[in-house]
Amino acid sequence: MSETAIEVAEVSVTFETPAGPVHALREVSFRCQRGSSVAVIGRSGSGKSTLMSVLSLLRRPTAGTVQVGGVDASTLSDRETARVRAEQVGVIFQSFHLEPTLSARENVTLPWRFAPGMAGMPRRAAAARADDLLADLGIADLRHRPVAAMSGGQRQRVAIARALMAQPAVIVADEPTGNLDEETADAVARVLFDLPQQHNSAVVVVTHDPEIARRADRTVELTHGVASEVAS
Ligand code: ADP
Ligand code: MG
Repeated sequence: MSETAIEVAEVSVTFETPAGPVHALREVSFRCQRGSSVAVIGRSGSGKSTLMSVLSLLRRPTAGTVQVGGVDASTLSDRETARVRAEQVGVIFQSFHLEPTLSARENVTLPWRFAPGMAGMPRRAAAARADDLLADLGIADLRHRPVAAMSGGQRQRVAIARALMAQPAVIVADEPTGNLDEETADAVARVLFDLPQQHNSAVVVVTHDPEIARRADRTVELTHGVASEVAS
């Protein structure tokens, strides 16, 4: 089965600044199937984070289209876009973006509170799903621990579990191992790149670490906002 999870076509993003327009992305096109992964590499300022914000539907491109889970986001209202984002996109950040005082299970169940598509799921079922995901990620025993009392690697596993909660078409991660030591980064990267097979999601990972990029099925390099496929 090779269903397109996410596709960007001729996407450009231009920032108007006092010093003139900044072309952060220039007619970027690529797609990622469910069950596969893409690494996005490029120097600082090449447009990686801008691309991530477009893929996660947080920013509308100046031109071009984004399709997630078969839905063309460029035709949607802000409200509909928020819904597609909540249901189809799991986002993972370098600095985790977890609620520190909440437990692992509470953090992982947050999408159940906010994703409209999960509204019908009973609380117990949501807690059970969260616990299953935490177990898959090897931290079942930490489910009641506040995130503030966890290591970086443990936090990023919680964030990965949370990103999976709503069974999204795509997981988007911006430098997910950037705050971790080398050994922990390697372990988290292995978990991240196993997700496409285990959960049939697509995974798009921004990284400047070649060891991390090497694990992806494909690599796309951004240079001054222009994307090119890197031969593996
Ligand atoms: P990367 O993540 O690869 O370091 P970014 O996507 O953050 O790159 O930035 C790409 C380019 O767009 C850079 O030249 C950056 O200065 C510019 N840029 C990013 N965000 C803004 C913004 N909000 N306003 C103006 N310029 C921006
Ligand atoms: Mg960046």
